[in-house]
Amino acid sequence: MRSLISLISSSVSSGHHFFSRLRTRRSSTLAQHALFSRRAVAMDASEEILRKALAEKQSVVEAQGNALRAMKSTGAAKPEIDAAIEALNGLKLEKASIERQLQAALSGSEGSLNREAFRQAVVNTLERRLFYIPSFKIYRGVAGLYDYGPPGCAVKSNVLAFWRQHFVLEENMLEVDCPCVTPEIVLKASGHVDKFTDLMVKDEKTGTCYRADHLLKDFCNEKLQKDLSISPEKAAELKRVLAVLDDLSAEELGAKIKEYGIIAPDTKNPLSDPYPFNLMFQTSIGPSGLSPGYMRPETAQGIFVNFKDLYYYNGNKLPFAAAQIGQAFRNEISPRQGLLRVREFTLAEIEHFVDPENKAHPKFSDVANLEFLMFPREEQMSGHAAKRIPLGEAVSRGTVNNETLGYFIGRVYLFLTRLGIDKNRLRFRQHLANEMAHYAADCWDAEIECSYGWIECVGIADRSAYDLRAHSEKSGVPLVAQEKFPEPREVEKLFINPVKKELGLAFKGNQRMVVEALEAMNEKEALGMKDTLESKGEMEFYVCTLEKNVTIKKNMVTISREIKKEHQRVFTPSVIEPSFGIGRIIFCLFEHSFYMRPSKAGDEQLNVFRFTPLVAPIKCTVFPLVQNQQYEEVAKVISQSLTTAGISHKIDITGTSIGKRYARTDELGVPFAITVDSTSSVTIRERDSKDQIRVNVERAASVVKEVTDGRTTWAVVWSTFPHHSSGSADE
Ligand code: AMP
Repeated sequence: MRSLISLISSSVSSGHHFFSRLRTRRSSTLAQHALFSRRAVAMDASEEILRKALAEKQSVVEAQGNALRAMKSTGAAKPEIDAAIEALNGLKLEKASIERQLQAALSGSEGSLNREAFRQAVVNTLERRLFYIPSFKIYRGVAGLYDYGPPGCAVKSNVLAFWRQHFVLEENMLEVDCPCVTPEIVLKASGHVDKFTDLMVKDEKTGTCYRADHLLKDFCNEKLQKDLSISPEKAAELKRVLAVLDDLSAEELGAKIKEYGIIAPDTKNPLSDPYPFNLMFQTSIGPSGLSPGYMRPETAQGIFVNFKDLYYYNGNKLPFAAAQIGQAFRNEISPRQGLLRVREFTLAEIEHFVDPENKAHPKFSDVANLEFLMFPREEQMSGHAAKRIPLGEAVSRGTVNNETLGYFIGRVYLFLTRLGIDKNRLRFRQHLANEMAHYAADCWDAEIECSYGWIECVGIADRSAYDLRAHSEKSGVPLVAQEKFPEPREVEKLFINPVKKELGLAFKGNQRMVVEALEAMNEKEALGMKDTLESKGEMEFYVCTLEKNVTIKKNMVTISREIKKEHQRVFTPSVIEPSFGIGRIIFCLFEHSFYMRPSKAGDEQLNVFRFTPLVAPIKCTVFPLVQNQQYEEVAKVISQSLTTAGISHKIDITGTSIGKRYARTDELGVPFAITVDSTSSVTIRERDSKDQIRVNVERAASVVKEVTDGRTTWAVVWSTFPHHSSGSADE
């Protein structure tokens, strides 16, 4: 049984995802700690009992040891001493037994050994068959950079083709393709220049860099899993630290690192204090060096800056969605976990622009009946596990903020499961309140469980109007939509007018941040402020971007409600953003598709990827059963038909034993194999069942095409054609 904490802390997020796209580390408030501590102390009951029992047994052993030493020093009789030694040995045996139970509870619940062995088997196969290759390998590689080899490229392109079909085509999205090199001003407006940081520590002697939160996390996990002597109180404390890890400020992280005596793992040298490191790769555009730029850390900004033109292209109508597939670059401090945390990766992002006053979705009913694992905020806080919830219910109860967000959650579920992700190892986890940016309405991550734990693979966020507003302000170009009224309407409007002169005098360089925060108040906050300023003359006001409270006085802002006649409504659209880490999805797909089965002789374990025909890198192989001119001719004819039908395939006339050929192609996840054993008919073998049917030579290519295109299934084909049972082949 896994404790809640291990459920939560084992999930790998993109890191920078906290507080939505930007990692703005806020110092953790007491309230947040209190919030977290409830779930943090929820330690697995059996673990807690065993830790207590172990601590008690340890003190009994120590007491018995002391008693024995006292007997010896006072010259007690030998039989008495022997009895005491026997008692001590008995106690030590009991202690060892509790230790074993605790060890089993810790590693057994995580299954960590099995997971590692499984991952190793998958990764070995992937690297050996060139699904991916560490980049620049002959120069000893570079951490966090990987190449896709031939089958990896094919899988990736199949995943992306399906993504385009499932999202872009289905929703009539407007696809764009923007440059990776981005001028500084764009990323300044989005906040990345100032806030896209992780906290880093350096080995004080060698300068090697580490992510501060990773070191603390490793320390806590290591202690919890390997140090059986820690008290239940200490274990609870370490779990609490794990739970608030993403909340800790630089100072708090530094203090914990010092308190626990954490040193550089490679050299054992002391570490520097943590400090923020911006993850963007900086460059300059053009030869002068005067125009700074960055490699984009995400593709979304390219869409936001094109909003005005895209809106026009769409006939000035909302809602609409734009999409982009492209490379993103993040200079991760210490990339690990293979394809999961890399420095350059493919993102596929959708920005669905919608009227903030109407987030209904016309096609929501298509997904409302889906039921899958959801992990709402309340379940996480109260220590429950994720549970299956019908999507329609999650939206109607308000667990998911709105229909459009719910619609995309449903579509993401369908996308991932149709690719071949195991639905039992896929959950949608809602962000906790403190994980979300202040402007975000709601965020859910599609997390997939793999050997590294639960991995955030798709983030689905309602980011309200934040991004378009930020670019409107910086560029001076209004990124807005209009709704024309059939009749002019009288509307009561709330006006928040910060008095810039007074604010400038009071806050100097921070004036802009205070103005922005005042303008960003919602109606309830603004009216609350109006009341307080009228009654008390001043009030404390939290400015997120400054990470502190400031005092707002009555003369610094006017807040009023006025009636106006309007012919149209001009507003900044909200954006709902599903953001897909393609590499992470593919890695999880590899793990979910991999299995081993014994060879016919039972002397070997053979690797198989059970890829769906949709993602399989090669759909079919063609082999002559034996080396024979006529069979080879037939194989070539079938190969030609497959090419004409657009089916990726491999023809093998090398004469290698058929069993070996099957084993090789099973390892690449090829779903079908055509074996030519006569000039009139051939057999088609399905990879997982190893079942074979017999079809006429002329029909062979079209049968494979129909199944791989999804127009029919193997089950239908199996019930239509004569079966072939083979005593030879691999069976
Ligand atoms: P974010 O913008 O941080 O929410 O990231 C969007 C998606 O990109 C995440 O859901 C991940 O799937 C993926 N991602 C983020 N960082 C990395 C990374 N360093 N390596 C691979 N994928 C990543």
